[in-house]
Amino acid sequence: MTDADCLFCKIVAGEIPNDTVTETEDVLAFRDISPKAPVHVLVVPKQHSTHAGEMAGSEPELLAEVMRVGADVARSEGVAESGYRFVFNCGGDSGQEVFHTHLHVLGGRPLSMAV
Ligand code: 5GP
Repeated sequence: MTDADCLFCKIVAGEIPNDTVTETEDVLAFRDISPKAPVHVLVVPKQHSTHAGEMAGSEPELLAEVMRVGADVARSEGVAESGYRFVFNCGGDSGQEVFHTHLHVLGGRPLSMAV
């Protein structure tokens, strides 16, 4: 299930280059092109869905896999002990700009509520 107009579907398909951190059969983790913290990795399901709130109902096990990979990324990036943040933006008012479910893994410095 992909969306031909979706940026992250194109990244998953290899049509747009990315800086991959890790990958599983169902999930890809890559560095954000415009990092907001020393560690800023996006974890996306390879199949298209609009956002995590939608996935919570339709694909809860895949959403759990996204978070499991996010926690692995925090460990491999060295921020698991110091602390890190998971962010899912869900819809326009949240600030979501790419409408393909993605988990932001942010860390490497103290984070305010504004990130
Ligand atoms: P959102 O605001 O939708 O939650 O976050 C989208 C994120 O995708 C932003 O942090 C933005 O910097 C990142 N982004 C946008 N375009 C690209 C791209 O082409 N490659 C990568 N790696 N990240 C991107």
